Amino acid sequence: DKDPRIHGIQTKIRVVPDFPKQGIMFQDITTLLLDPKAFKDTIDLFVERYKGKNISVVAGIEARGFIFGPPIALAIGAKFVPLRKPKKLPGKVISEEYILEYGRDCLEMHVGAVETGDHVLVVDDLIATGGTLCAAMNLLERVGAQVVECACVIELPDLKGRERLNDKPLYVLVESH
Ligand code: AMP
Repeated sequence: DKDPRIHGIQTKIRVVPDFPKQGIMFQDITTLLLDPKAFKDTIDLFVERYKGKNISVVAGIEARGFIFGPPIALAIGAKFVPLRKPKKLPGKVISEEYILEYGRDCLEMHVGAVETGDHVLVVDDLIATGGTLCAAMNLLERVGAQVVECACVIELPDLKGRERLNDKPLYVLVESH
């Protein structure tokens, strides 16, 4: 049932133990980017899923959502909107704070980039606890947009991030334990 391209993608993701700190199994997608076939397969799988689905905006989360989001947006004919870390966007912004394991973080979006009635796909490289995707969805829903789905290359299912998304559909290509 699984697409044969998935295995090739999985083998290109490098897992780095104890980065950036003890106990974290870091999923490094830079090795996937070094393989043009596996990178293209990754984008194609998302495009095949979302083409013709009436998505008007792809919202990419800084930083690795900026790698996977734009080629998907171009291929499905949607706008690309960056959701950035604080103080990076020059225009008027709307902000959403969220709690991390240690401390807090924040995502910002330009006011006017996404409008009421937009149908949005949220893209990031990975879902761990789901806190980042949750904040992204809150931001988008606050401006009246409809989040159609969240899409990530990798899910860490043991962290149960999917449960935190309040029934919002999540599509991932590979799981890592
Ligand atoms: P979370 O908000 O806990 O779902 O964390 C997801 C965000 O943190 C994504 O933007 C990921 O890029 C990053 N992240 C969290 N855990 C990892 C990991 N083990 N390897 C790579 N990136 C991670």
